[in-house]
Amino acid sequence: MQQNDCLLSIYEILNAHFGNLRWWPADSPFEVIIGAILTQNTAWRNVENVIIRLKKADLLSPEGIRKVEDHVLANLIKSSGYYLIKTKRIKSFIHFIYEEYGGDLDIMFAEDLWSLREKLLKVKGIGEETADSILLYAGNKPIFVVDTYTKRILMRHNLIHTDATYKEIQRLFMNHLPHSVPLFNQYHALLVNTGKNFCTVIPQCDGCPLHT
Ligand code: SF4
Repeated sequence: MQQNDCLLSIYEILNAHFGNLRWWPADSPFEVIIGAILTQNTAWRNVENVIIRLKKADLLSPEGIRKVEDHVLANLIKSSGYYLIKTKRIKSFIHFIYEEYGGDLDIMFAEDLWSLREKLLKVKGIGEETADSILLYAGNKPIFVVDTYTKRILMRHNLIHTDATYKEIQRLFMNHLPHSVPLFNQYHALLVNTGKNFCTVIPQCDGCPLHT
């Protein structure tokens, strides 16, 4: 089977099994961005409460985060883990959008995908997965997000080598699939769900939709 047929059939099987996952759950692009930073090295359930807390404090906006003092922010995001580092990362991102775009996300996302990606990767604490999550889920830009689950599932199905890099895995998807935001959005969510429910460290192949 060719790579594109294979990737599309994985998508179709997972899509039929899980249905529309409506990822990323957020009320605004800014909420997606903050969620993408907060979810680094922690489970999503730990992020959800923090997002609610930030909303209640009326801080979930570039201006809100810009004004709040570091120690107050750190306290509010404590339950997401690594909160001191994450406070610095969120503040670095805010500094970046004010320096480059006057704090206006619409202006930021009007920028070309690849040049914006390059800039995001220069912000302290924003790696490839976070940058691509921001671009796809907050900016509606057609880029594929790769994570641990993606790599594990592809490796176990012999579609990549064990030492495949983020870039190589991303290229595999982007070279063989149409550059569609809804497709990339749902495909990443499907892989995450498969990884969480079946393709765990010890794979639970029985019952997994990809089990042949
Ligand atoms: S759990 Fe098994 S069948 Fe499912 S994706 Fe992982 S290796 Fe494949």
